[in-house]
Formats: sequence, structure tokens, C-alpha cells
Amino acid sequence: MSQYSAAFQCINPHCGAIYPLNRIIYNCEKCGSLLEVAHDLEPLKQLDAKAWMRLFENRYKSSQWPYGSGVWGKKEWILPGIDNANVVSLYEGGTNLFWAERFGKILGLDDLWIKLCGNTHSGSFKDLGMTVLVSQVKQMISEGAPIRAVACASTGDTSAALAVYCAAAGIQSVVLLPKDRISIAQLVQPIANGALVLSLDTDFDGCMQVVREIAEDETIYLANSMNSLRVEGQKTVGIEIVQQLEWEVPDVIIIPGGNLGNVSALGKGLLMMRELGLIHRLPRIVVAQAERANPLYRSYQKGFATFEPIQAGKTLASAIQIGNPVSVEKAIRILKQFDGIVEQASEEELSNAAALADKTGMFACPHTGVALAALIKLVDAGRIKKSERVVVISTAHGLKFIESKIRYHEERLGFPSAYANKPVELPPKVDAVREVVARALERQPSQNTAPGPFP
Ligand SMILES: *Cc1c(COP(=O)(O)O)cnc(C)c1O
Ligand SMILES: [Zn+2]
Repeated sequence: MSQYSAAFQCINPHCGAIYPLNRIIYNCEKCGSLLEVAHDLEPLKQLDAKAWMRLFENRYKSSQWPYGSGVWGKKEWILPGIDNANVVSLYEGGTNLFWAERFGKILGLDDLWIKLCGNTHSGSFKDLGMTVLVSQVKQMISEGAPIRAVACASTGDTSAALAVYCAAAGIQSVVLLPKDRISIAQLVQPIANGALVLSLDTDFDGCMQVVREIAEDETIYLANSMNSLRVEGQKTVGIEIVQQLEWEVPDVIIIPGGNLGNVSALGKGLLMMRELGLIHRLPRIVVAQAERANPLYRSYQKGFATFEPIQAGKTLASAIQIGNPVSVEKAIRILKQFDGIVEQASEEELSNAAALADKTGMFACPHTGVALAALIKLVDAGRIKKSERVVVISTAHGLKFIESKIRYHEERLGFPSAYANKPVELPPKVDAVREVVARALERQPSQNTAPGPFP
């Protein structure tokens, strides 16, 4: 056992009830609020900030199991009580922070970075949280808890992550997916990893309602984001960004938001860094939402005075097609502390932003497109300054979402595709090819003429 400790704590300040991490519990028994993992900070403060930084740097991407993982390299801050023998890790985290120089220049930004969280085992940032949840489940099973399976409702990426971590641990997973609303890649992932895949004729919010009731049976453990264990892993994203920037806090971090667990986690990690003296200021946090699934944006417009769930409309950013976000309270609390902004992007804006980013050497998924479109709009509005250091969190790998990219370039999305690049079909004749090449190069004399963001 380590000297460090953590427990579930009710997020309602008037309640604050505490439960051990090996209890099967998702909401407070006293008041029904969400729980969060609270760490005993006193023992953590025994090590000074410099010593934590050195420790994290020494472990980072090393082959020391499990500490080479971006999440488990910060184990004392995440899940200190877990036995290393129960850690289920696929070497998550440690994703590249990419200097988006050319895209930044087009926008007139001097210092733009993209955190490529999709360059990871299952192709989305959901790995960061799932390694923690599945490890805790493995520990509880080893202590004799009668858990037979782990279940989730998903917009696609949560189920892919759950299925692959459960497969690595030898635990059965059960995933509930909205029929015809996720990409082929997202569907084949849990199938390949041996999950019980249930395709329901409803949307995400509908799947969520069903899985909550299924998990009333305590032998089926619920992996959705009301389960605050996932936040502990996801909170490493902000810590890792600061570490990668030589412990300097960027000015702005932009993140796409659906269920709003990720933004809550981002803020939680940064607050913990400040508490333990690793940083002394906070970045501004921007949540980017799809216009068709924008309940947080609407609440932000009213200064967060009220929040009303909506029926989410169909968006290409399918992983954030959520009208009733579970973690809204946590997210609003974070945004208030981080001078937060919420921006939205239409289908046309998110698609063109992703396509423009691709033209400068990225391969952005639609959710990253939402974040990039928000960036473009905030720069245009002067709310992000040209000299500011901005980090955009790219939440999934573009290869998971090629259907919408193909339709974009075929100009079949129902709005103008500003950067469509259609393949040219030709007979296999040198003359025909030479002519088309010559004409194309005439039209585009220099690769260095940058197109404007929104044409
Ligand atoms: C889950 C997900 C999000 C949104 O995260 P929330 O915690 O639901 O706000 C964004 N992008 C991708 C690719 C995701 O899988
Ligand atoms: Zn409570």
C-alpha cells in the first residue's frame, strides 16, 4: 500500500459524502449528485513541485511498466491505491503535441499546437480514462467483487476503448450503440475485441437510459462518464500538455465537448497541478460544440444562469451528438474557474475547418474540426490574440471517420465543400495524364499561396 490515498466524494458542496473507490457506486447515495475522485493532498505535498516534475519526466515514455504510460506515469495523482499487478495498460497517453505551423500561419497565429490524443491504442482520447476504470475493475474482481461484465452506452469511441481494455484484461464487455449513428471503424472495433455488441434503434441518450437500468444489477459494472474513475485518467491530458511545453502553461486550450467529461477532467488536472505548485496560473479553456448539439453553448449565452437539455440533432461530429450531458455541472464549474468560453460550429464550418487543416498536413476528425472551427471564429472575433499560445485538443484519429471525409471531397454533404479534392478518372494514357497535370499546375502555380480559412 502507498502512503497516498483517494476516495469518491460527492460533488455537491452541501453534502460531500465519501465512499471508498472499490464500492460499486456512480451517484451519491445521500443526494444523487455525481461523485468525483478526491485525493488526500497532504502526503502529495510532501514532495515538492520540482521533485514531481523530475519524477514525471523520468518515467515519461520509458519502458518501466506501468510508469511509461502517460497515465500511470502519474499514478500517485490518479489511482494511488491500485496494485501494479491489476493495472491494465496499453501504453496510453504520451501522444504527440504537434506544431501546426502552416495552419497557424493561415490563421495569423504565431504559436499554435495540436495535441493529437487520437494517436493512441483505440484511436481516441477515451483510452486515457478507460485504462483507469478497467484497472480498478480488475482490482475489485481480484478482491472478490462479483463483477461479470463491464457495460457502456456509447457514441462509438467509449465502446471501442472499453472493448479493447477489457479484451486485454480478459473481462467481458457489453456495449450499447445507437444503430446507424456511428462510423464503420467504431462499430468494428468492439466487434473485433470480443464485446457483446448491442445495436439499438435509438440515439445515444436512449442507449444511456437503457444501460443505466441494466447496471442496476451490480454484477454489470457501468463504464459511462458518470463513473468518475475515467476522469482521473483523462485529467492527465492537461498535465501532459504542460509537461510537453517544458512546464509552461499555454494561454488557451480548446477542446470539443459532448458529455463534458473531458473538459471537466482537463480542468481537474490543471487545478491539481496548481494546488501542488507545479504551475502558478491557469489557461483559458474553450469548449467547442456542434451547433446541432449545443446545450452548453446555449447556457453560456445566458451566463450559465440556467441549463436546459436539448434533443441533439444529427451531426457529422457524432461522438459529441449529445443533448443531455452527464457532466454539465462539473464542466460549468471548471469553465467559471478558467475564464471559459463556449463556441459552436455548424456542419459546414466544422467540415471546412477539418479539410483546411488536412491541407496543411493534419488528418482531422470531425470533432477536431469543431474545435478548429471554434478557433478560427474566436481569432476572427479578436477573442484569441495572434500572439497567444493556443493548444487545440484533437480527440480522435481521422482514420476513424473517413466516411464523412469522403463525402466532403465528393461534395455530397449538402453544402459547399470549400476545399474539395476529387480524384480525376482517366484512361491509362500518358497524354491524357500529362494534360491534366499541366492544367492543374497552371491553376495552382505555387503551393505556398495559402487559402483563407472560410472562403
Ligand atoms: C467522447 C468524445 C468527445 C467528447 O468528450 P466528452 O467527454 O463527451 O465531452 C469528443 N471527441 C471525441 C472523438 C470523443 O470520442
Ligand atoms: Zn451527496
